[in-house]
Amino acid sequence: MLKLYNTLTRKKEIFRPLVKGKVGLYTCGPTVYHYAHIGNLRTYIFEDILERALTRNGYEVKRVMNVTDVGHLTSDADLGEDKLEKGAKREKKSPWDTAKFYTKAFLADLKKLNIKKPECVAPATKYVSEQIGLIERLFARGYAYETPQAVYFDISKFANYGKLSNTNYANRKARMNTSGRHGRAEVVEDPKKRHREDFALWFKRVERFKHHIMHWSSPWGLGFPGWHIECSAISSALLGQPFDIHTGGVDHIAVHHTNEIAQSEGAYGKPLARYWMHGEFLNMSGGKMAKSSGAFVTLADMEKKRFDPLAYRYFVLGAHYRTPLTFTWTALHGAANALEKLKRIVATLKATPQINANKKTRTSTDKIYRSYMKRFNEAIADDLNTPRALAALWSAANDAKLTSKEKLALLLSYDEVLGFGFKEVRKSAPVPPSILKLVEERELYRRNKQFDKADTLRARVDGLGYTIADAPSGPEVRKENSKS
Ligand SMILES: [Zn+2]
Repeated sequence: MLKLYNTLTRKKEIFRPLVKGKVGLYTCGPTVYHYAHIGNLRTYIFEDILERALTRNGYEVKRVMNVTDVGHLTSDADLGEDKLEKGAKREKKSPWDTAKFYTKAFLADLKKLNIKKPECVAPATKYVSEQIGLIERLFARGYAYETPQAVYFDISKFANYGKLSNTNYANRKARMNTSGRHGRAEVVEDPKKRHREDFALWFKRVERFKHHIMHWSSPWGLGFPGWHIECSAISSALLGQPFDIHTGGVDHIAVHHTNEIAQSEGAYGKPLARYWMHGEFLNMSGGKMAKSSGAFVTLADMEKKRFDPLAYRYFVLGAHYRTPLTFTWTALHGAANALEKLKRIVATLKATPQINANKKTRTSTDKIYRSYMKRFNEAIADDLNTPRALAALWSAANDAKLTSKEKLALLLSYDEVLGFGFKEVRKSAPVPPSILKLVEERELYRRNKQFDKADTLRARVDGLGYTIADAPSGPEVRKENSKS
């Protein structure tokens, strides 16, 4: 029984799919104008755990992720320029090439983090006719209006606008009407817009967007779609409406997902998705990590510092996805060490002969084995409680009452959800005495500061397929290409 926290109802609910055994999952994707930062990637790790947990619970998952390659302005509230065109200017490339480049980089990041590539990866620019169709539907049902600059969604026509974030816009508007002059300064780029929260469905290629490179013809002239409409159009095209689970970062709740709900439910008169799940922020010690502020860390930054990207995955899973998490390099270092230790345990277990396999004590250890399996599965089924799942993993790894074979089976099974790549860990082999002798000799030269001789021996060890790492406690030698 899988329980998931639903932002819409603000409680944990038992997950029940629309169609038995199947799940339609929509996860909002990246805006591909720059590298993803590790805060963005935290959300994708959470969604990967969700997908794997659904699979483990016997569901066949169809996951769709959009890729925003047009229409996302520098402010979520329709102000500023298109992020894609801004990125293109910075890189002196076309927005199309920019999108292509960063989509590829994004997918490479997912791969490094062992995040499964969604079954459908859908760029917004490939679904423009679906978006136009949806906007026409919104016109037909009285939710859309046109100004000389754009087409907007009229939020006053949609009852319960703001239900996802629990914001009452009717009250807020009334308040603003009486005390609006004392409210915060508002930048309005379109004086014909009816309400402040009305959002763009379509931007015309006029005024501030006169030179917009990416554009299509539409019933409202040349232009390009607003940001939110792509998710409504793509999810409806690929998953139907309603579908089971919609996810994203918590920053999507107030604007992007609220607007998706308004569009889709306005257009079809039925719910968009049944469960809404949101991953919390990753903070830097100085505040929220954001691309716009320039204060952000990428996976490439971690790799430059010689961290395995999976150490970041381990770090993220140490906190529940609904808990804000603060990133520090020290914490990442701790995670890297822990993961390294786990991989060594796995490598050793793989190399351990199955001594207990046929013993009569089997039944008693089997009970412990099953309790460990249950403990892990319950943690994951409880709204993806990865910290508890990791605790179960460490207990199992250190429990002397389990046989090596059982331990290994548990760790590999847990890893189907956690995704640290234990299956690929090679079993450890003892380092041959001849190699150890060379390492010792080299260490003597090194201590005597005879670095040339030390380097020659290191090269020889390298040539024999082993690497030497100089740890504070002394040199460590391991077989090359071994992930353990
Ligand atoms: Zn979206």
